[in-house]
Amino acid sequence: MKRRVQHLGMSAWIGLGFVVVLGLMVSLSTIGLGYVAENNQRLKSITQINNVKIELATEMQSALRERALSIYALPILADPFDKDDEIQRFNAQAIVYLKAWNRLEGMSLSPKEHAVLSNIRGLTRTAQPEVQKVVDMSTSVDDQAHVFNQIRNVAMPRQRVLAEQVNVLLALQRQQTVAAVKAAEKSYAHVGDLMLGLGTAALLISIMIAVFVSQRVARQAMQLAAQAMYDPLTGLANRSLLLDRLDHEIELSRREHLSFGVVLMDLDRFKEVNDTLGHDVGDELLREVGRRLKAVVRAGDTVSRLGGDEYVLLIHKLEPDEASFIANKILAALDKPFHWQNESIDISASLGITFYPSHCTDSSELLRRADIAMYAGKRAGTGYTLYAPDQERTSRGDLSLKSELREAIQSNQLSLYYQPQIDHASLGIVALEALVRWNHPQRGFLSPDSFIPLAEDMGLIGPLTRWVLRTALTRLVALHQQGYPLTMAINLSARNLHDMTLPASVLAELTESGMDAKFLTLEITESAVMSNPSNGLAILTELDRMGVTLAIDDFGTGYSSLAYLKRLPVDELKIDKSFVTHMAEDENDAVIVRSTIDLAHNLGLKVTAEGVETQDVWDVLEILGCDFSQGYFMGRPMPADKLDAWLLESVYSRAQADTLYAVESS
Ligand code: C2E
Ligand code: CA
Ligand code: CA
Repeated sequence: MKRRVQHLGMSAWIGLGFVVVLGLMVSLSTIGLGYVAENNQRLKSITQINNVKIELATEMQSALRERALSIYALPILADPFDKDDEIQRFNAQAIVYLKAWNRLEGMSLSPKEHAVLSNIRGLTRTAQPEVQKVVDMSTSVDDQAHVFNQIRNVAMPRQRVLAEQVNVLLALQRQQTVAAVKAAEKSYAHVGDLMLGLGTAALLISIMIAVFVSQRVARQAMQLAAQAMYDPLTGLANRSLLLDRLDHEIELSRREHLSFGVVLMDLDRFKEVNDTLGHDVGDELLREVGRRLKAVVRAGDTVSRLGGDEYVLLIHKLEPDEASFIANKILAALDKPFHWQNESIDISASLGITFYPSHCTDSSELLRRADIAMYAGKRAGTGYTLYAPDQERTSRGDLSLKSELREAIQSNQLSLYYQPQIDHASLGIVALEALVRWNHPQRGFLSPDSFIPLAEDMGLIGPLTRWVLRTALTRLVALHQQGYPLTMAINLSARNLHDMTLPASVLAELTESGMDAKFLTLEITESAVMSNPSNGLAILTELDRMGVTLAIDDFGTGYSSLAYLKRLPVDELKIDKSFVTHMAEDENDAVIVRSTIDLAHNLGLKVTAEGVETQDVWDVLEILGCDFSQGYFMGRPMPADKLDAWLLESVYSRAQADTLYAVESS
């Protein structure tokens, strides 16, 4: 929205610029043309008037010339008629002269013209009697020489002076015309200058507008670039800026032989906050986390948000042995509860940490490995985890799975596989372990390792466990009806032991199916119990009271406190397959398995070995006194229909039937 307003502002500016330049151009042309027209008008009237004056002065000049001719002609003409004609012409020219003179005087004159004209008047006055005298003498006096004397010495010099003055007048008028044209030229030049000035102004304004607009464009481009580099919610760097900084940091550290750390942090149960308290609270929480993270790191470090509840911190100059220091600092910053109106929210996070260059030297690979470490930590329930290559196996795959999981639970995309557990004493099948699968529409069958942690993370483990329970019990009822009185083992995850309603749910499912609790085994890992000792113990005690069998799963992988194990109401231990599978060749594994079996028996517990893949292992387990075995050697996990076929033909089910038969017939 803001960007649109800025765009509008921009085009308004450009539009305004165009209008200003266009306006300048129009007024420029109007002013220039007006000026030229006015100048033309002035020049026209000046030249017209001057032309009239020149015409009049020329008339005066020619009248004077005509009179001079008459004066010379008069004494020579013998015929009195001719003489009369000449006198008349002479007088007529005087009229022409006077008329012209009069008209000239009536016109608007310059002071110079005025002066010349009044000079002419004076000269005319003094010349007139002398000239008239020549006319009079030429009609009365016979003495030609006397007349010529009068002409040459008196009349003509006066006439000449007069003619000179008329010439002066003419020259003056010509001069004035030239001056008017010159003035007009000057004026045109002035208009030219003006136009040039205005044109330059228009150009300057255009340039100013262009500079202004381009500055704004540059500023906006910078703003857009900033928007493209920062997370709008928290103001932290976003993924692209992070990658940029990461590359930069790699370059710097490579040159200076430094180490730095990449910390990927994911909030636990953020989705729950969002779902129960609303997005506003969620957003505020994300912002607050951003602020706290920034307060923990140094100025040169980068805090970024990748979206969702994932943050990445780039810690400059950090050695791997400082990992716990920085991780604890970050976790401590989140320890203080968040307050929202009257709510107080406890938040925790999982951190995955990688180091340049000890883990890898590529930016996106660093991020990926931090992610894998974080995810491994989330599974194990540890606060922070350093990257280790063996975490790759349990990589979380794709985030989009998360959103599809809820749908999967509701729309029957989950299915159960069943794996038999065989009794060493009878060689018969005694139990099945239900193992969940996700038949993903695009990705095919997914192993539980890839989505159980997601379900835990999203708070979906409750519904998932209930679905497994119900499905497995339904199958078990059918098997009992078919004559297989087996036990069904199902797996609980760590989060199930946080849910105080679990025993009630189990009881409800048992009641619904009509199955006796003694045919149900629940498997829990050591670390699951340890992650929540008080609730865990209460829940297990409750389940034990209901008559459900409890087994410790993956035994040997967590840290086992014998004292604690004694206090748990468990009936069974399952030795983790990592010790079992290679125990026939690996002395150490064999020792561990042996002491575990002894320990379990001392505590009065039954022992199941999982991961039995060969006859050799089966045989060693038999010698060591293991109670039950589970593994590919006897039977793989199978879907329900395969299981039916397996039960019909397997030696283990025949052995079980034989035992049953023996029990019944004895
Ligand atoms: P787990 O409880 O330890 O289950 C045994 C795993 O070992 C199964 O893997 C099984 O397929 C595999 N396995 C069985 N025999 C052999 C063998 O001879 N050799 C080897 N190498 N592996 C063998 P799966 O089905 O992929 O399950 C993985 C884990 O997922 C399970 O480990 C369990 O912790 C969890 N899980 C499975 N189903 C559920 C469930 O319904 N709820 C919960 N919460 N967790 C489940
Ligand atoms: Ca199990
Ligand atoms: Ca196991």
